Amino acid sequence: MSLIRPLLTAVAVASRRQSFAAIACTLALTNPVLTSAVSAPSLSLASPAFIAPRSSSPRSSLTTRAMSLGVGGSGPTLPDAARHRPATDLTFEAGPEFEPEATVLVGKKSTLTDLVADPASLAAVLKIDETSLPLVVAAFNSISGKSGSAATFVPVAGGGGVHRVGLVTVPDSVTRNNHPLSVHSITGALQKVTPSKGDVRVVVAPGKADGGSAIVPGAVGLLVAKAFPIFSRKTSDGKPKTAEDDRTVAVTLLDGMLKPVSDGPSIAAMAAAADGTRLAARLVDTPPEELTTAAFAAEARAVADALGGSVTYSEIVGDELRERGYGGLHGVGRAAVVPPRLVTLTYEPEGGPTDGTRTVALVGKGIVYDTGGLALKSKTGMVGMKTDMGGAAGVLGAFYTAAALGSPHRIHLILCLAENAIGPSAFRNDDILNMYSGKTVEINNTDAEGRLVLADGVAHATRHIDGLDLVVDMATLTGAQLVATGKKHAGILANTIELEGRAVRAGLSSGDFVFPLLYAPELLKSEFQSDVADMKNSVKDRGNAQTSCAGHFIEDHLHPDYEGEYLHVDMAGPADKGGRGTGYGVGLVNSLLKSKGF
Ligand SMILES: [Zn+2]
Repeated sequence: MSLIRPLLTAVAVASRRQSFAAIACTLALTNPVLTSAVSAPSLSLASPAFIAPRSSSPRSSLTTRAMSLGVGGSGPTLPDAARHRPATDLTFEAGPEFEPEATVLVGKKSTLTDLVADPASLAAVLKIDETSLPLVVAAFNSISGKSGSAATFVPVAGGGGVHRVGLVTVPDSVTRNNHPLSVHSITGALQKVTPSKGDVRVVVAPGKADGGSAIVPGAVGLLVAKAFPIFSRKTSDGKPKTAEDDRTVAVTLLDGMLKPVSDGPSIAAMAAAADGTRLAARLVDTPPEELTTAAFAAEARAVADALGGSVTYSEIVGDELRERGYGGLHGVGRAAVVPPRLVTLTYEPEGGPTDGTRTVALVGKGIVYDTGGLALKSKTGMVGMKTDMGGAAGVLGAFYTAAALGSPHRIHLILCLAENAIGPSAFRNDDILNMYSGKTVEINNTDAEGRLVLADGVAHATRHIDGLDLVVDMATLTGAQLVATGKKHAGILANTIELEGRAVRAGLSSGDFVFPLLYAPELLKSEFQSDVADMKNSVKDRGNAQTSCAGHFIEDHLHPDYEGEYLHVDMAGPADKGGRGTGYGVGLVNSLLKSKGF
């Protein structure tokens, strides 16, 4: 908080040392103006797996801090109805007592070819009897191309039934805009090959690193996390699923010598990346009736609680936003039953800043539901708009992972939370909003709302955070992003070529890909020309680099004295896949924070 100028110090700061129950009991439940309001029902949803440091969690500083707060071990106890079942517990350091019903081995074709030719190593990796290996070899040989998958059953020693063995191969080489381990292919194959029930061991064998493209453990945590999402409302034929339906997936990463990676930092990196990613994906999957702005704020507060003493939480809610000048965020969210919020989490590195410490602001678009506002979306165009908070979910998960791993950087998380609803008080096309930057915006499309809330978010960051080096905003902002860079690569707008290069490399090493969009603010600014205000919020010509234009709109609200780096990430495409959130953003941001030159 010491970095925030006085304006924000008036905002209520919740003690992270309060228990969930204490927060629920001591704070008002529904007062929309009260800055610390947290509704009790949302707490039961602000929950599951990621918060609870598990017995298998890394011995990281996170675990230590969380344990000292009394949330270690099995974590907070939730009523059964609030659990997501069947639950898959992900662990990265299962002990020898773990006896799964199935094993899935994934790796490059050449790596698995070498392994299959070495019976002793293959039996050790799969933890099966050497006499069963011919069945595995036959399955492997049935994969004819550079990539593919196969499965077989082998007898369990001692007459204990059968054990399923799945094999997944990916190509030895890829083109320059893909991850060297084809992580997206592996995620897809894991979902296909892994049985839907029972404990499973997943063994990842990247093989020897080829020049400059070493597989970072965090990327392995991400690719597995994306295959095993948390959210579920499925029943067993109308009856709730029970603990008997839960299972454990244990992941083992093999090094270049095909030996398990077991050092603490690697295990911690995999676990924290997976936890952050599963958190982000769970929020994207949650229906809008449950994930209100208040519930999202409770999730952020739960992250702060789990991280402990190095993180502070604050929020500005409802009409107080307008009183303080956040006309963009207030305008977009003011018609909703649950009011808009600006939520801020601040992380300070333990032991204070060092020479390498940078100050970063992560700003997320959290439109918990986007009807389009009075420029209402169509009946088909609106479906899926629960995912319009994917940017906020991504940066929240990224913040969790970075802080859990003890990042050396100061990280400010700013979540712009609003529901773009319709009602008597909705903002209209032709209204003029007074933004936090001081600039005015004539609304010509209430469905171009993400840039309005983010403009206030980046204005807040650059006005109040001292010594800021980098602002990253992340958003499901434009459908045009999919046309420009596709469904796996977010489109980025970077104000320096160095930052652009770092972001691309961070994407490639994590699997959260990005590709540059045109950066040319002075050539595109006229798209927003307004006769009566400083700018409009939607472009004149949709055929003129509109995804870049949207980013430049947000950039235009950075404080004029801000001289640091600015990265806009439009991840409308990568935020979800096949009806599920992907947890996109956690890997990108964490790789970026660790990148050379930062
Ligand atoms: Zn919209």
